Amino acid sequence: MNHLSSFRHILVIEDQKARRIVALEEATYSIGRESSNSIVIYESVVSRRHATFLRIRKSPHGNEYFYRIVDGDLEGNKSTNGLIINGLTCESHDLRHGDVVLFGGRAKTSYYIIPSTVEIALFNPIDSSLLEEVIEQSNIAHNNSYSTLVSDKNDQDNLEKQDLVRLASFPELSPNPIIEINYHGEITYTNPAANIKFESLREEVLKHPILKSLIDQSKNTEGNLLLREVQIGDNVFEQYVHYLSDSQLIRSYIFDITERKQSEQKLKYQAFHDLLTSLPNRAWFNKQLSISLEQAKRNKGVIAVIFLDLDGFKNINDSLGHSYGDQVLQQFAKRLVNCVRAGDTVARWGGDEFTILLPQVRDEDDTIKLAQRIIEVLKKPFHIKEHQLYIKTSLGIAIYPRDGDNEESLLKNADAALYRAKEKGRNRYQFYSSTITSKALLLLKLENSLYQAIEKNEFSLHYQPQVKLTTGEITGVEALLRWYHPDMGQVAPAKLIALAEQTDLIVPISQWVLKTACSQNLAWQQAGFKPLPITVNFSPRQFQQPNLVTMIEQTLAETGLPPYYLEVEITETSIIHDEKFAAQVFKDLRSLGVSISLDDFGTGYSSLSHLQKFPFQTLKIDQSFVQALQVNPEDTAILSAMIMLGRSFNLRVVAEGVETLQQLEILEKLHCEEVQGYWFSRPLKTEDATQLLLQHCIKRDITENSSEFTYK
Ligand code: C2E
Ligand code: MG
Ligand code: MG
Repeated sequence: MNHLSSFRHILVIEDQKARRIVALEEATYSIGRESSNSIVIYESVVSRRHATFLRIRKSPHGNEYFYRIVDGDLEGNKSTNGLIINGLTCESHDLRHGDVVLFGGRAKTSYYIIPSTVEIALFNPIDSSLLEEVIEQSNIAHNNSYSTLVSDKNDQDNLEKQDLVRLASFPELSPNPIIEINYHGEITYTNPAANIKFESLREEVLKHPILKSLIDQSKNTEGNLLLREVQIGDNVFEQYVHYLSDSQLIRSYIFDITERKQSEQKLKYQAFHDLLTSLPNRAWFNKQLSISLEQAKRNKGVIAVIFLDLDGFKNINDSLGHSYGDQVLQQFAKRLVNCVRAGDTVARWGGDEFTILLPQVRDEDDTIKLAQRIIEVLKKPFHIKEHQLYIKTSLGIAIYPRDGDNEESLLKNADAALYRAKEKGRNRYQFYSSTITSKALLLLKLENSLYQAIEKNEFSLHYQPQVKLTTGEITGVEALLRWYHPDMGQVAPAKLIALAEQTDLIVPISQWVLKTACSQNLAWQQAGFKPLPITVNFSPRQFQQPNLVTMIEQTLAETGLPPYYLEVEITETSIIHDEKFAAQVFKDLRSLGVSISLDDFGTGYSSLSHLQKFPFQTLKIDQSFVQALQVNPEDTAILSAMIMLGRSFNLRVVAEGVETLQQLEILEKLHCEEVQGYWFSRPLKTEDATQLLLQHCIKRDITENSSEFTYK
């Protein structure tokens, strides 16, 4: 059997209803007019139970079989109008390829054994031309080798007839609807799936959406294929329509693509929206911006691009957790949307950054009004879970055509303006101006390298001693942060801290400074030096970290430094932000045993009530007062008052920035007990500070020309 390696048994049934294929694979089939039959024939001359198909094995153990048709049912009841097989009336017949059976002399059934090499799609019952071709080929094959095939026992095992038979029934079993109509608009075939999916098809016929305008379209269709999408209720179908002009038939293969459509729509939505806030995302914003720019260029219009972010969002996320932060972003997004007009776009750019596009503005005033409105609506607190929170934002604004004529430059400049707004103190808006970029770029460069600074070991601490005037004894050491940038050299700590505050790096930097200072202090003590307190500076934002006390407690535990050898130094700015919070932190720090020092006293607030209310141990007089002595040595009133004030509160008073002997002497006269400044020592590297400590147990020998200490 060269030609037929395997085959299947099929019946092609043609009755009043349609032409269809049934694959035979079961052991028995009842056939008749009644719907309870396994094969139903729609023809009035056919008996209720007209005939029976029986599968007969060729040999008891082989796989080969054929079908026998018997008139009537298995109980012995005969049909009314009999069976005519190949023109002869029969009561029983072993079927062979090509046999034609007429039930009751009318409904026609053909029996075929066909090769499996034919594509499944070709077994479509409605494409009679293809079916005939297959049958024709089968005829040749059967003539050549069928007799050998069926008797060739060796090949029997290779025949996977069960599978093949199953495939032969493809259109009937297909879960996808198949419908055929003729050019007169009459339905000539529907498979079961079509009957189930489109129940009203036979009543509505050409009025049914799936058949609507199919005949008209035949004239407009190039070639013989039409593909269209049909929406019926909530369902969407993809319909492949074949126009067979020769046979005047229109055949549709229909696929329910509702789920695919839904997921496509979901994907499309996701591609352009932020799922957390449901706002358009960056991709959508860019698209809108480029459309608006084109329009503005044509109409000589003005556009505003606004970049904004939440002040202090990192703190919220760090302290209260991400789910809390997410809710803040959601509520913030809602308020933003309520501030803009229809036609404006509010998008989430990423993280806590948002962008707004105003595609039509008359002048700057329009934008200012919006910025003010946004700042205004944020004055009301956010209520999230049990917390009440005040959120502020900074806005950077760039205007087309003044600040840029393309998407990139407008966005970049709005971002630079935002940066500037933050630098100026947050909770404000800032228009772009050309002087902003260069600074923003420099800061950007610094910011990028700051991220790597800890890893690359670019930070170090310098130590500056505080000295008791009467004895020359070192009473404490202040740790001062240094960053040596490989390209830019030393970066001033004030700048570095300001920069770190704008990023989330302030937290790891804080930890690094504290840990390094505590470890160094302990190392000195372990090396036999007299134990001294070490002072560590905390910026307002560092101070406001909700877990500051825990962080300090942990660092002390990790390094092993006793708490009373640590002094936390803050400025009054840290207090005025939230006095209640500050009071709690101070209380916790004091109960830990850590001292608190008030830095830069005399600048800013210098509130007497702060000295009264808060448990400071040290008051540091800002260096500007000491340096003023250089200009006006007689003018000591303020300095004197500050020293007195500190003493009256029982505080250790340290004068900062003492550079000359003259300053020193005045301070001594004013009964300032301790000083810190270049005159004694600049902030020193660890090795140099160690050397200085080595010389520590000494008496000071004050001479104008020497800042050296002499050994006792
Ligand atoms: P500060 O805490 O008031 O520190 C004293 C500053 O005065 C230091 O500047 C020190 O080098 C400088 N100084 C000391 N003696 C003299 C003197 O005789 N004359 C003059 N002209 N200056 C003197 P530095 O190191 O540049 O630090 C500046 C500020 O940066 C510090 O002011 C402090 O507020 C901040 N800072 C430094 N390190 C840290 C840190 O680790 N964390 C935080 N948060 N801030 C830090
Ligand atoms: Mg300080
Ligand atoms: Mg200071």
